[in-house]
Amino acid sequence: MAVKNFTIPSSFLNLYFGNYQSVFNGDFDWNREDFVKALSQRVGFKKERVWNLTLKSYEGYLFEAQKKFNSNKPFINPVGFRGGRNRRHGLRFCPYCLREEEYFRKEWRLTFSTACVKHKVFLLDRCPECGEPLTIQKWKPDKFHFHCWKCGFEFMNAKAEEVPKESKGIEAIRLLYEILKKGYFEFEDRVYYSIAYFKVLEHFTKVVYNWQKRNWGSIRIEEENIGVRLDKKKKRLYYDAPIKVQYILFTVITDILSSKENLEKFIVDNKLKKTELTRDFRDYPFWYKKFVDKYSDKGYAPTLREIEEAVKYLRKRGLKINWINLRKITGRFLDSRKRRDVNFFFDEKQIQG
Ligand SMILES: [Zn+2]
Ligand SMILES: [Zn+2]
Repeated sequence: MAVKNFTIPSSFLNLYFGNYQSVFNGDFDWNREDFVKALSQRVGFKKERVWNLTLKSYEGYLFEAQKKFNSNKPFINPVGFRGGRNRRHGLRFCPYCLREEEYFRKEWRLTFSTACVKHKVFLLDRCPECGEPLTIQKWKPDKFHFHCWKCGFEFMNAKAEEVPKESKGIEAIRLLYEILKKGYFEFEDRVYYSIAYFKVLEHFTKVVYNWQKRNWGSIRIEEENIGVRLDKKKKRLYYDAPIKVQYILFTVITDILSSKENLEKFIVDNKLKKTELTRDFRDYPFWYKKFVDKYSDKGYAPTLREIEEAVKYLRKRGLKINWINLRKITGRFLDSRKRRDVNFFFDEKQIQG
């Protein structure tokens, strides 16, 4: 057993992690200090090395550290472990990578890992034989390679579909890996922490995917390239989208965020309001703040037309039509004493300064 363990350390790790199902709620790519310690003692790896194999190592780079253990993190595909196996397709693989070195790469759990940057194929997120989500810690005793727990298909024997050469998606994934690895990114000749990039990247999955702000040339181009359309499911989150939809989504968003010019063009072409640019951020990153804050120039008062739009928006959402909300929505300063022209939008009771 031990010899095999060291020739295929990953299967050992996976088998080993499998024993910890109950402790880790079934998502063995996550980790806890005591577990890492136990594993490093048992296998003889340095603690840092074991740690580095877990998704927890993305903390501080991809998302913020949290004291409370919680496996719902941005860009980590949920596996939906229940009753001894994964119910969701959160685990992916490249069969050609498995043939070269048989272990499951940590980055295959990331939502933007939709294709293999080395072999330029789409990753697979299910058993090609029976369609079952992967549960690689469920191991049949007669097997030596990773296989489907249900039908026994060995994943390294799968075929994967090539990514069309015209597509920019592989470059996009490479860029995201690079930012994650380096821990910083550059924007307008300045350097910022990677986490500040990923926060905005996540926000833009909402902007493009859920709010359907899709006035952007490369969306059409990539939809053509891949032969799939970004669908119109408003409520589904980006990590529940099919893998090719995710591929297009991240290709497009990295393109939008690639320069000041692009970001500006996207905002203008889609008539994005400041609230839409900043909503849901607890505190929005500095590089981005610097950029979007100009959309709330206090010296510039909104036109009646813009206020009309804002009122429509509030009504649609069932929100109160008052000064506070109007200021929020337009992202601009509105002086209640000077803007009597706005009054007629309000219900009598709601007129407040
Ligand atoms: Zn590969
Ligand atoms: Zn199968």
